[in-house]
Amino acid sequence: MGKTAFVTGGSRGIGRAIVRRLAAEGYAVGINYLQSREAAETLAAEIRRQGGRALAVQADVADREAADAAVREVEEELGPVTALVNNAGISQNDLFQDTTEALWRRMFAVHADGAFHTIQAVLPHMLHEKAGGIVNISSIWGLRGASCEVAYAASKAAVIGLTRSLAMELAPSHIRVNCVAPGVIETDMVRGLGEETLASLVDQTPAGRLGTPEDVARAVSFFLRDDADFITGQVLTVDGGFIL
Ligand code: NAP
Repeated sequence: MGKTAFVTGGSRGIGRAIVRRLAAEGYAVGINYLQSREAAETLAAEIRRQGGRALAVQADVADREAADAAVREVEEELGPVTALVNNAGISQNDLFQDTTEALWRRMFAVHADGAFHTIQAVLPHMLHEKAGGIVNISSIWGLRGASCEVAYAASKAAVIGLTRSLAMELAPSHIRVNCVAPGVIETDMVRGLGEETLASLVDQTPAGRLGTPEDVARAVSFFLRDDADFITGQVLTVDGGFIL
């Protein structure tokens, strides 16, 4: 049977690089987006032009029914999902005492609930086949913690807890669950930080540069390789040495 990947937040940044990489590796790819319809459709058209198979699907991953419907749409068009990448994410920059209840809940809804929803949507087929790969995108802040991003970091830490626990539960079924924790990666998410902050982040990175979306995509691809089949429950940091 063919390989089909479902990538949440595939319209921009890291997700787009993951989509391109998996498509180049022969996956048919479901490209989930929240608002960027044009970007997602353009990416799907690019992949189809290159002879691949791709479908752009809108869904807020925080919405269980919407996430489930998006997975069903991809499965009908491209085949059952054999690889799931939970990449959709949002950022935060405020003090804990100023964090509203709505923001706190939204962080967990997108990052933790989103992964819960999509994994439950793809699991029946993976369990039936006793095969499948799941990669969740956390963050170095989910490992180390970060000021002015307490809700973000806590929800990304939840993604790591989910990854490790589910990996144990699903290993007997030959379904692997791993996590990539990116450092500072040049995307829309960090561009808003401003040049001075970005320069200081480069200074703090032993590798002397910001990461690229492709750096992260290569790590995701590694976890999904067939010959990485003894590797599960791991968190791979892609940060140029930032948190060493
Ligand atoms: P980005 O450029 O801002 O792109 C975010 C992507 O997530 C977009 O495709 C967006 O869709 C999608 N998205 C957001 N909320 C969604 C929702 N509720 N449902 C479905 N899709 C949603 O961000 P990025 O830098 O590529 O980040 C990707 C992932 O890496 C995130 O989980 C982020 O936390 C993590 N990460 C990033 C960095 C970094 O330095 N950039 C570092 C560590 C971890 P639309 O285009 O439709 O808005």
